[in-house]
Amino acid sequence: METIAARSVILERMPAIKSVLASNAADVDRHARFPSENIETLSKLDLMGLLVPETEGGAQASADLFATVLLELGSSCASTAMIFLMHCCAMETIVEFCSPAIRRPLLKDIVRGKHLSTLACSERGTGANFYASESRSAMENRKLVLAGEKSFVTSGGHADSYVVATRSIESANVLQTTLYLVPKNSTGLSFEGTWNGLGLRGNSSTNMKLASCTVPDDHVLGKQGQGLELEMSSILPRFLLGTAAVYTGIAVAALEQTVEHLKSRILNQAGKSLSAFPVLRRSLAEMKVSVDASRSLMFSAAAAWDQSGTPDLVSLLGAKYLACETSANVTRQAMQLCGGIAYSGALPVERHMRDGLAGSIMAPSKDMLLDLIGRAAVDMPLLD
Ligand SMILES: Cc1cc2nc3c(=O)[nH]c(=O)nc-3n(C[C@H](O)[C@H](O)[C@H](O)COP(=O)(O)OP(=O)(O)OC[C@H]3O[C@@H](n4cnc5c(N)ncnc54)[C@H](O)[C@@H]3O)c2cc1C
Repeated sequence: METIAARSVILERMPAIKSVLASNAADVDRHARFPSENIETLSKLDLMGLLVPETEGGAQASADLFATVLLELGSSCASTAMIFLMHCCAMETIVEFCSPAIRRPLLKDIVRGKHLSTLACSERGTGANFYASESRSAMENRKLVLAGEKSFVTSGGHADSYVVATRSIESANVLQTTLYLVPKNSTGLSFEGTWNGLGLRGNSSTNMKLASCTVPDDHVLGKQGQGLELEMSSILPRFLLGTAAVYTGIAVAALEQTVEHLKSRILNQAGKSLSAFPVLRRSLAEMKVSVDASRSLMFSAAAAWDQSGTPDLVSLLGAKYLACETSANVTRQAMQLCGGIAYSGALPVERHMRDGLAGSIMAPSKDMLLDLIGRAAVDMPLLD
């Protein structure tokens, strides 16, 4: 957990960070461009090592601080927040499972803001079932070689390293996987296509090709065959909390925008602002209660993680589910309340609405979350 001093430094810097992100968000969205200047701001203001232990120069953030930061970023620029979240998930894997030979220099670069990492788990063949990999790894001429394709790799082509899941060496089982840290300049690593999604348009979530991609021996994360376990025990909890925070942040931004608009938009024939109409205040109240509920569930899952020292997966699944539903519903209500002016694109509400829709699609998707929560409720294992 972070020190009080580290926490206050980070929180003091958040308004400046939010202001830079918010000022670039519309342009990033319009041009579907990677928000390099936002990542540079996070680097300069020492956020890139948020989860790195204090002994290695990082902030060693608690779950609560992590969620606070991600919520603020999500409310300012959701694309940047998701890029940063993927970096945090990869960073945690590096902190916990990287070989000693490369761990220290890598963490030093991360803390100095010189290294952006990300996750490459999903594949076209297995879709939202991100933990299953058809891509392969093998020892060829005493070299570790990866082959296959990854889909929707956030920061694809921009990150300095990629946490890649493939089947373990010699394994034919899509659930028997291993995680590798693949540096950006690896032989046989390339990216295809450009990301032009409905929302999260700055993400650069492109396809990755591993064509006999050679990886140094010491770039295995954990052990051979440990991939699924690490994805479930380390990456998944962090990802769930982070997405819950980002999508709650999107809903917060839509709510704030709506409050502002209802107060400032005057209808001449009535001589009143939109806020004078009870029916609109009622919708606004529904939005507010939804956002408060999402925030509460997410922070209570974070507090439980901090208190016990281990994440409670079922609470985190619920937090992600509620946040993604909330961002989709609240942004749609915001569009209704802010009317044609919002629909025309004059307000950021339409961007929040498009960004907000991605939450329930990204794995574990809405139906997967509900299935997992239901399984836990009747004491079934999460995976068969
Ligand atoms: C903006 C964005 C960024 C992303 N970034 C990353 C990233 O950085 N790294 C990464 O590894 N992946 C990333 N992903 C991939 C993401 O996590 C999913 O793997 C991907 O969206 C799956 O899409 P698909 O069309 O293949 O889904 P499909 O698997 O074809 O799913 C279609 C529908 O079927 C449902 N479905 C599928 N399987 C099940 C099941 N077992 N139970 C119930 N319902 C099921 C899904 O919920 C969905 O509704 C990203 C995706 C998006 C949209």
